[in-house]
Amino acid sequence: MLANPILNKGTAFTERERDTLGLRGLLPPRVFTIEEQVLRAIANFRRKTDPLDKYIFLSNLQGRNETLFYRLLEEFPEEMIPIIYTPTVGQACLEFGAIYRRPRGIYITIKDKGRISEILGHWPNPDVRMIVVTDGERILGLGDLGAYGMGIPIGKLGLYTSCAGVHPYYCLPITIDVGTNNKKLHDDPMYIGLAQERVRGPEYDELIEEFVTAVQKAYPKVLIQWEDFGNTTAFNILHKYQKRVLSFNDDIQGTASVALAGILGGLRLNGGKLLDQKILFLGAGEAGTGIADLFVEASVQAGMAAEDARKRCWFVDSQGLVVKGRPGKLAEHKLPYAQDHAFVATLAEAVEVLKPTILIGVSGTPKTFTKEIVSRMAAINPQPIIFALSNPTSKAEATAEEVYTWTDGRAIYASGSPFPTFVLNGKTYVPGQGNNVYIFPGVGLGALACESREVTNKMFLIAAQTLAGLVGEDDLAVRRVYPPLSKIREVSAKIAAAVVEECHREGLAQIPRPADIEADVRSRMFKPTYEEFA
Ligand code: NAD
Repeated sequence: MLANPILNKGTAFTERERDTLGLRGLLPPRVFTIEEQVLRAIANFRRKTDPLDKYIFLSNLQGRNETLFYRLLEEFPEEMIPIIYTPTVGQACLEFGAIYRRPRGIYITIKDKGRISEILGHWPNPDVRMIVVTDGERILGLGDLGAYGMGIPIGKLGLYTSCAGVHPYYCLPITIDVGTNNKKLHDDPMYIGLAQERVRGPEYDELIEEFVTAVQKAYPKVLIQWEDFGNTTAFNILHKYQKRVLSFNDDIQGTASVALAGILGGLRLNGGKLLDQKILFLGAGEAGTGIADLFVEASVQAGMAAEDARKRCWFVDSQGLVVKGRPGKLAEHKLPYAQDHAFVATLAEAVEVLKPTILIGVSGTPKTFTKEIVSRMAAINPQPIIFALSNPTSKAEATAEEVYTWTDGRAIYASGSPFPTFVLNGKTYVPGQGNNVYIFPGVGLGALACESREVTNKMFLIAAQTLAGLVGEDDLAVRRVYPPLSKIREVSAKIAAAVVEECHREGLAQIPRPADIEADVRSRMFKPTYEEFA
């Protein structure tokens, strides 16, 4: 009982439990309540000044007592989420070997081909419902971190539980290790993975295929979230398995949903109409093209032809404006957005000739929204929407302070990583954080609650609309296009209910429709309170 983090209550085991479970004498005599344990834990947490120390503290707590860990997350989400997830999780991944304490999750390597079922059989829980899996190739904006990427599945599953109440017992983080092309890791004495070049091509594809087949056999009700795969594999895997297994890719679909929600919130602020917008993206990767795809889907729902909606999405990537006939081969995911237009080389020129209403940074390249570009956006639009979504904070295309200052406070700004509140000419601005955590926990909870057969793009559209609807007048008053993170469980419950509704509409649900969907969803949410064992 003391060694199992799901069951352990530490000093909160009652007098009766101590007798019936044979714990008498193994704990200090005084029995504490969970509220008292929280006081001790939060004081110890706050005593640490370095975010990475806070991360280590929390992961030790999670390894000891999950209920207390999640109670802390529930009570202090705005303090905890930036530690267990972005931005601190990025640092934790970079130093994953050095801070490694105890195993969590499953590692499957390219050398395990033919043995994946056997390995899954080593996991103690036979009823896994939620897997987050990465191959570590594109961790946040930090690049190829190989097996160090394990921090991401662990962190994301922590968010599933804390933000949407998916029971920790159902969660399984997995890293698929096919090597890393990050040479520094090959020479890192602490590196925990295979110190070899990445295996690609058919051998890689066969491993993923075996993985999916084995997972489905072991856990028929499981939802697989593909996480932080590189550009060359992420789209292929998503498209290959999207309809075959209950699965989605958060970097593509979750990001799209949260960004679209921000756009819809922004339009509530500046009074614009969805069908009048023209978006210019800096960066044409998973995030950018994912957002564009969902924007097109939203425009189609609002009555525009898909082809016309695509003409409203423009991309500048590392080679310049994405247009037809540009020299060199365009990656497949960019083709739908290669416009019939003269090539221009820079973002500044693209803003000048295209006059976009919305500018979105998903390039992973900091400081690329210069004063010239941002001021030009504000000259073209009374209230331009400018989102600098690249993570972590150091990669943001422009800071909140810069964008508000350069536009005289007229821009509607959101970022990927959090920025502090800013005051300009006596007015308070609270920059929204376009964090995927607003979306994926709720979508996942909804899909699990009704045992959906599939996670569809439409669900991400519905999630975006639900989230945008939850932005309050008090948020808009400080020009924030997302609700505060403190409301995250409420947001997840509403999104989950909307997803379940959609599953029943589309005939994807595999359990009967409950009389009250939202109440049913809420009743399934894990609450971090101790069960009485004796
Ligand atoms: P990706 O590797 O798939 O795509 C990056 C794209 O940026 C590529 O098209 C590349 O050509 C382009 N690029 C790189 N440098 C550039 C430059 N100097 N100028 C123009 N284009 C450039 O990565 P991704 O998954 O699309 O993620 C991109 C960024 O978005 C990352 O920093 C990531 O942290 C961030 N992101 C944020 C959120 C969020 O805020 N919710 C979600 C997902 C991703």
